[in-house]
Amino acid sequence: MNNLLQFDRDHIWHPYTSATHPLPVYPVAAAHGCRLVLDDGRELVDGMSSWWAAIHGYSHPVLTAAMKAQIDRMSHVMFGGITHRPAVALAEKLMALTPPGLDWVFYSDSGSVAVEVAMKMALQYQQAQGMASRNKFAALRGGYHGDTWHAMSVCDPVTGMHQLFNGSLPVHYFVERPVARWDAPWDEGGVTSLNRFFERHGRELAAFIVEPVVQGAGGMWFYHPQYLTHLADLCLHHDVLLVADEIATGFGRTGRLFACEHAGVSPDIMCLGKALTGGMMSFAATLTTRRVAEIISKGQAGVFMHGPTFMGNPLACAVANANIELLLSWNWQQRVKAIESQLEAGLSTCRQMPGVADVRCLGAIGVVELHEPVAMAVIQKQFVDAGVWVRPFGRLVYLMPPLVISDAELGMLTRAVVEIVR
Ligand code: PMP
Repeated sequence: MNNLLQFDRDHIWHPYTSATHPLPVYPVAAAHGCRLVLDDGRELVDGMSSWWAAIHGYSHPVLTAAMKAQIDRMSHVMFGGITHRPAVALAEKLMALTPPGLDWVFYSDSGSVAVEVAMKMALQYQQAQGMASRNKFAALRGGYHGDTWHAMSVCDPVTGMHQLFNGSLPVHYFVERPVARWDAPWDEGGVTSLNRFFERHGRELAAFIVEPVVQGAGGMWFYHPQYLTHLADLCLHHDVLLVADEIATGFGRTGRLFACEHAGVSPDIMCLGKALTGGMMSFAATLTTRRVAEIISKGQAGVFMHGPTFMGNPLACAVANANIELLLSWNWQQRVKAIESQLEAGLSTCRQMPGVADVRCLGAIGVVELHEPVAMAVIQKQFVDAGVWVRPFGRLVYLMPPLVISDAELGMLTRAVVEIVR
């Protein structure tokens, strides 16, 4: 084991890490249900769902059986000139479940690529209408949309993780993050600067990209759904496409299947990833409307100009189908409501702690925002010693457990957060 850790330390990048000052990593040998099993046999209750993805926990027998069955038929075939049942069945499901109108599906292999695809769709759509000058994007401050080039260009350029690339990235527009909290009364004044922005720059925009209601990696901020409703109206009025990045929020995390539903909004383009396969495989989809798809297809190129090698991977489609059927087979809404109440009850004592700036819970997401950033290596070990897997970042300690977590396991998570944040 020491060799494994040493080799890892000397040769392998982990997300956002240094080669010269690596953070500790914990060797995981197996994962089942809501538990990660370390190489030394210790079991940790999972508070992360492997970053929003593992909504049914790990190694769910239904999902592994779906994958095994598909492996025996075919793991992969190219999607150029070929189609297959898993891809068609998945498209049918996504069309039926996503907000009305999204009836063209582009499959890709990660959330960031789904965002790249969405941005290319928006540009091709505007070009095809003779509006090539509409080549800017707008996004919210505090937003996060992925680590690939154009996805980075719509992440918050100041508080986001990509400042060091400023200067090389395309320059787009950023609007102040909505101040109105998710659970506060709605105040129309909250959209004054958004209105002004559209009046000044609406004509330059191909699309506005937004994480509906929950801004994730950019700060775990929950904003008022009415803001999104208003944004959708403005986009419609200014012929700006609305791109909903539901990569983190999709498939039940916020208490609705998709977070757009809180605002009654049907975007022009929607990006899905993470929980699309229940976290079993890297896979993503970008959905759009027939209108956008047809306009793109009438443009100069006559085609949508993207086609990744692993597009429509049958194994990923098969497990995504099983994942969605599994989600719809039980009363997950009630469970998410109960998780939200338990997170609220369990974390509320943090509000009185001097180091805590805010506590907020929405659906199966609970966030404790601190005044100061955490010392990652120290706090991570404290959580592991407490028997839970929680991975804070910056000033945020947050829980986003699998939706199937038990009350007892969730209690372990919230108690650990309270003890360690104290
Ligand atoms: N958009 C959002 C809202 C995300 O949370 C993420 C991942 N954290 C992405 C896009 C990028 O997805 P991926 O990491 O699969 O490329």
